[in-house]
Order: sequence, then structure tokens, then C-alpha cells
Amino acid sequence: MSTNIAVLGAQWGDEGKGKIVDMLTPHFSAVARYQGGHNAGHTVYVQGKKFVLHLIPSGILHPGVTCIIGNGVVVDPQALFKEVDDLARMGVEVDGRLLVSEKAHVILPYHRELDVLSEARRGERKIGTTSRGIGPAYEDKIGRRGIRICDLLGDRQALAEEVRENVHARNQIIKESTLDWKPVFEQLVAHGDRLQPWVGDVSLYLAKARAEDRSVMFEGAQATLLDIDHGTYPFVTSSNASIGGVCTGLGVPPSAIGGVLGVAKAYTTRVGEGPLPTELSGALADRLREGGQEYGASTGRPRRCGWYDAVVVRYSARINGLDAIALTKLDVLDGLPEVHICTGYRTAKTVLTEFPADLRALSNAEPVYDTLPGWKSVTKGATRFEALPPEAQRYITRLEEVSGVPCAIISTGSDRAETIVRDGSVVHRWLSKELNVDDLRVG
Ligand code: GDP
Repeated sequence: MSTNIAVLGAQWGDEGKGKIVDMLTPHFSAVARYQGGHNAGHTVYVQGKKFVLHLIPSGILHPGVTCIIGNGVVVDPQALFKEVDDLARMGVEVDGRLLVSEKAHVILPYHRELDVLSEARRGERKIGTTSRGIGPAYEDKIGRRGIRICDLLGDRQALAEEVRENVHARNQIIKESTLDWKPVFEQLVAHGDRLQPWVGDVSLYLAKARAEDRSVMFEGAQATLLDIDHGTYPFVTSSNASIGGVCTGLGVPPSAIGGVLGVAKAYTTRVGEGPLPTELSGALADRLREGGQEYGASTGRPRRCGWYDAVVVRYSARINGLDAIALTKLDVLDGLPEVHICTGYRTAKTVLTEFPADLRALSNAEPVYDTLPGWKSVTKGATRFEALPPEAQRYITRLEEVSGVPCAIISTGSDRAETIVRDGSVVHRWLSKELNVDDLRVG
């Protein structure tokens, strides 16, 4: 019996999900994205070549693996075509291996403009979006005036009607705007023609895969603390990045999810606005930012950096039912004299140990830290837990205790091979064949 697993971000994104998904991919027949859009940015290095994928699952770099874009994803056809063309230039063909849900909503050309406008209107209270039209596309979806991929392939008259209504709604939002719906319609028809060979019924495909005992990895974009319902609202993304998004965004039942792997960095980062209780400033923040190359893969924006926050990861574990953590970027902490783990937030009245809904509770809160000795020797490239310096082992053991989840995978560098897979961990049970770190080595 095969096991489908979900791999998702346990913090505020950019945890290094791309690498983890990439190294596990050969054990699955398909990788499926369930939410988000081309605001995600996975960076994967294979044989020294850098790949940044925004929309297509990074599984596409593995021959024979089917890559799926679920109904919960919002698709910018131009962004998708660009990615397909870039991959083709690098020698990766997607035809026959890419399946896009007919129910996925389309990001329309002017959604981006609406995104920029709504951020400008918020002024000081801006969310810090990537301005790619993702939020406005989800707004249209929930407002029941969205346009789905199946609409591009069906009755042209009906599509014309829908586009006209959608453009009308947009013209009412943007004052003094008189966008003509016809060029939008014509562009969508052309997009539909190119998309057509990849479009299908994702839920049905996944049901068949299950019946045939072919396992699938469900790949999350963004992360739990950016989830529209469970994240630090309103500084969140517009979709369910946490586990619930798998069912709604792909049309699979909860019983199809056999395991949940949360990806967490050995420290914490965040892009854009919103609370980050363990945020550091000055030399230490710069040290983490430079050491971890903490600059957005999609936007190049510098990321805010802070210590590992166990309150956040414990919360993520609860929301998602994490079976295990893949702890990434341990090597970035190499050489620090001390390392800190946040176990609570001290407010004027109390110490919070559960993540609060009302962000105002965090505004004057001080993190409560466990302080541990750092390690002088390097962890970079380690492939066995026992090979880590004793202080690094202690740090991880303490993280596990306070986060309440075992670290089954520890990433010690950006290359696939720079990975520890703990003996006896649940990960071995999920995979179709023996996971041997030596097999990950390339070249
Ligand atoms: P994602 O969206 O969660 O995949 O995250 P990003 O792609 O933004 O960030 C991951 C970046 O960190 C990429 O450049 C990876 O190559 C790199 N990375 C992943 N794991 C590690 C690690 O263990 N150590 C180091 N130093 N870099 C890593």
C-alpha cells in the first residue's frame, strides 16, 4: 500500500520546501500543488544548475513524475507558459507530465493592477504581497465572478459574457477606468488553446492513482502562518496553505493523506509585513540573512530573520497534524557562540505559550528564550546525526522537545546530498524504496 504525504511549510514560508520535496520526489509517482499561485518560489539546485520554479511543482525536474496543479491554485497562464518555455530551454519537457485542473481559477491580466492598487490604498497597513494578482484572483473566486480554466475551453459566448461581467466589476473598483473587455476575452481564448493539452480532472486522476497504488506527494506553497484562516491575519496569503487546503484544493478525501511532513528552518524568517516575535536586528540578523541567503526567490526582497520559534512550530504541528519535521538550514547557525529557542511570549500580564489569534497580543510581547551553547565546528554537508557536533545534536533534541514533533530530516546544505535522514524515522515508512542519502549525491 502506497502512502501519500503532504509536505508543507511550518513557519512563514521559504523554509526550503523545494529541496525537501525535490529529494523525496523519486519515491512518488506524482507531485500535486494545492494552493497559491506563481508567488511561490522554489529554488532547487541540480548538478550545479539553479532552477527557480513558481507554479509548476519542482517534481518536473524528475523524469517520469507527473506534476499536478490543483483547483485550489490560481493560474496566470502567461507565467505558466514562461515556466514551461524556460524548462524546455533547460531540456525539460512538460508535455504528457503536466496536469492542470479544469477547475483552477485564472489570474486575469488586470488582477495584478488591482493588487498594486489595494496595497497602495492600505498605505501603512500594507500586507506586503508579491503584487502578482493572486489575492484579487482569489477575491473574484470567492465573489463568484472568477473565470476557471474550463471556461476558457468551453462555450465562447458564455466566456465572453463572464469576461464582460468581470471587467465591469473591475471598472467599478478602479474609478474612472474604462477597460475594454474584448482584448481580455481574445487573450483568454488564445491562452485556452495553449493550455488545453494539459487540462484535466485532477480529483479523478488522484482517485485513480490511489486505486492503482501509485503514491502522490501533496506540495504546499507559502506556509501555515501565512494561511488565510490560521495565519497571522491579515498579513497572510489568500489561500489555505495548511493541511485543509490539500482536500479542498485537489478534491481528495482526508483519508488520502497518509502522512504530514512540516518543513521548518533552524531559525525563523519572514518576508513582508506582520508580526515576527523573535525578529532580530543588527549584526546577528545580518549574519543569518547573509549566511542563509535570505532574499526572496520570487522578489529578491531581504527577509526578516529571527531565532527558532517553538510556539509557532507547535501551533503548526497542531493545525496540520505534523508527523515529523524536516529541519532545514542547520548549517547557517554554524559558528554562533549561542543559539536561542523561543518557548513563549511574555506580555504585561502573562506568558503566552499558545499562538494568539489577536496580533495585538504580540505587539509588546517579549520572547522567552531557552539559551543553548552554539557549535564551532561545521554541520555543513553532514549526512549522519551522530556526525553533528554534540551542541548541534543538543539543539535539535531541545527543538524536538519544545516543538513536540520529531525532526526526521535535517538539512545541512542546499544540495540534495547534504541531508540527514534519521534512522527509524517515519519518513522511511512513507517511501516506496529505501532512502539512501548516497543516492541523492549527484555527479
Ligand atoms: P522554499 O520556497 O521553501 O523552497 O524556500 P526557498 O527556495 O526560498 O529557500 C530555500 C533556499 O535555501 C534555496 O536557495 C535552497 O537551496 C537553500 N537551502 C535549502 N536547504 C538548505 C540548507 O539546509 N542549508 C542551506 N545553507 N541552504 C539551504
